Amino acid sequence: MSARVVLLGPPGAGKGTQAALIAEAGVGAHIASGDLFRKHLGEGTELGALAKTYMDKGELVPDDVTIRMVLERMDEQDARDGYVLDGFPRTLEQAKALDDALGGQGREIAAALLIEVETEELVRRLAGRWICRNCQTPYHESFSPPQAAGRCDSCSGELYQRDDDKSEVVRARLETYERQTAPLVGYYESQGKLARVNGQQRVEQVTADLEAAFGA
Ligand code: ADP
Ligand code: AMP
Repeated sequence: MSARVVLLGPPGAGKGTQAALIAEAGVGAHIASGDLFRKHLGEGTELGALAKTYMDKGELVPDDVTIRMVLERMDEQDARDGYVLDGFPRTLEQAKALDDALGGQGREIAAALLIEVETEELVRRLAGRWICRNCQTPYHESFSPPQAAGRCDSCSGELYQRDDDKSEVVRARLETYERQTAPLVGYYESQGKLARVNGQQRVEQVTADLEAAFGA
């Protein structure tokens, strides 16, 4: 079933893991702003170089360039009927820009789903995270290891650890989340669109709870 949903939650909550599963189940395109920035970085674009200066410090990339990049991606064919937004919006400015862009077209977000996980667990998850260089699937060295060490189960791509998953940057990213992104919970609550899901359960259970929350 197609739908337009936003996944909210701190770094390490499981947004990427869940967005891929929900998108594949037929909701629509998986659009991850962090993946889009890392793609630019890999391609050596000007935007990639700009984004890196913020990502390395655990800070947010400025709203204007981020909003433009994500709205352009949302205009692509595979996102026409539905999408799962992962890591966007992350500021009130971004959330308002998204509402403005969609409101006029009668294509509002159906739900904002908050994945809740305690800070200690987030730190453990990010310290052990490995990501596929090719298809971005996240793994965890203890919680969800790949079948063959260092290789992606789905595409055999090489797994790597993100520079910004180092403990100093993780601390900054968690602070940035509290300061700039946590206020979005109230924003979506006041629109009657917020649902909270316990992210400290098995991956399959979190998926089931998320799907139930937006009526998939
Ligand atoms: P986010 O996109 O919110 O930063 P990820 O989906 O990349 O989070 O998940 C962060 C790490 O936690 C990854 O290593 C992932 O394999 C692991 N993970 C995701 N969901 C769970 C879960 N329910 N239980 C244990 N580990 C998980
Ligand atoms: P993520 O892959 O979602 O953990 O994002 C990695 C980094 O990319 C963040 O720490 C930010 O520097 C940047 N980023 C991703 N999404 C956004 C966004 N919506 N707004 C601003 N910066 C972002």
